[in-house]
Amino acid sequence: MFSPRAHPVYLDYAATTPVDPRVRAAMLPFLSDEIFGNPSSVHAFGQAARRAVDASRDTLAQAVGARASEIYFTSGGTEADNTALLGVLLAGRERGRDHLVTTAIEHHAVLDCARFAQNVLGFRVTFVPVDGEGLVNPEAVREAVSDKTALVSVMHANNEIGTIQPVADIAAVARAAGAYFHTDAVQTFGQMPLDVNDLGADLLTLSAHKIYGPKGVGALVVRQGTRFTPWLHGGQQEREKRAGTENAAGIVGFGKAVELLAEWRKPEAERLAGLRDGFLAAVRARLPCVRLNGHPTRRLPNNVNLSFPGADGEGLLLGLDFAGVAASSGSACASGSIEPSHVLLALGLPLDVARSAVRFTLGRQTTAEELARAAGIVANVAASVRAGV
Ligand code: PLP
Repeated sequence: MFSPRAHPVYLDYAATTPVDPRVRAAMLPFLSDEIFGNPSSVHAFGQAARRAVDASRDTLAQAVGARASEIYFTSGGTEADNTALLGVLLAGRERGRDHLVTTAIEHHAVLDCARFAQNVLGFRVTFVPVDGEGLVNPEAVREAVSDKTALVSVMHANNEIGTIQPVADIAAVARAAGAYFHTDAVQTFGQMPLDVNDLGADLLTLSAHKIYGPKGVGALVVRQGTRFTPWLHGGQQEREKRAGTENAAGIVGFGKAVELLAEWRKPEAERLAGLRDGFLAAVRARLPCVRLNGHPTRRLPNNVNLSFPGADGEGLLLGLDFAGVAASSGSACASGSIEPSHVLLALGLPLDVARSAVRFTLGRQTTAEELARAAGIVANVAASVRAGV
């Protein structure tokens, strides 16, 4: 095996990103005795916090083409996804719509919530399949919807394979059936322009920690007029739609991260796409048998998901970690379990090819030199894992 490096290469930006120092600086007053009031309090302490929360709301709204009144802060992407599904389904049932259409490759925050809605709450759910590159066919969605469909939920880009879905076309199918359309844009926010109007989304999920913001804060955009029933009960925060004292520091950090997006997203996406292609070519030059999972062109600029036929993904990950490369076997939540990725299986990959997959995701600190080093390490580790060394 290979000795650990003094400077490990982090290639797991889809799992999370480091907090930008400017984000941290913006948050600090809210983590001290400077601005600590409860945003719901009427006194000056509370109102200082309220102003900051509302400023972040404005920033988010502007960034995605929504109104401030359409932004609901949550504890992250997971809560936003759960709120979108359950909130719309519960409201839908009241008007005779009890059906959800989603896909086989959603993040667990949607997939497992859909199963909960089906198995525990008694809603009907259709899981639309994808093709071999992870694309959802809008026609398959058209066949799945009916006048009983309350919601269609299809992620903007997949967190494991990076495939970008034709969401505007799917949204049009949902609208034609009188259903709402939700998209989980957690992985795309930092990679490509995002506008709820262009996407045709009634609901949109965002998370701060994928865009150099803090963990534990996200947002659900709910377009005006969308019927949804709150399922978290308590205080009257977030216009009575999401009870609980606001995470003011997190929300301020999220707002700052979104504000900074405007300056880096486009040039960074171009830089990362170049680095991604170079990395893929370098690995392929050493290991011609690797398989690129996901769509070859309709993919996130920072995602390379590779299968290494003949090797075991968990073994590869451990070997890579030991040799100084941090990657992932799919979604962060799935690592540590021996279950092959539901996304890769949905593409139709044989079990062993799905099990041999490793996801590399690039970000701000990724350099060409790092990737050249990583490509060499990947080739060596794959060879040793295959040989059972
Ligand atoms: N949706 C997608 C596509 C994700 O990639 C993730 C996180 O990995 C989530 C939802 C969950 O977001 P959070 O970690 O903020 O709960």
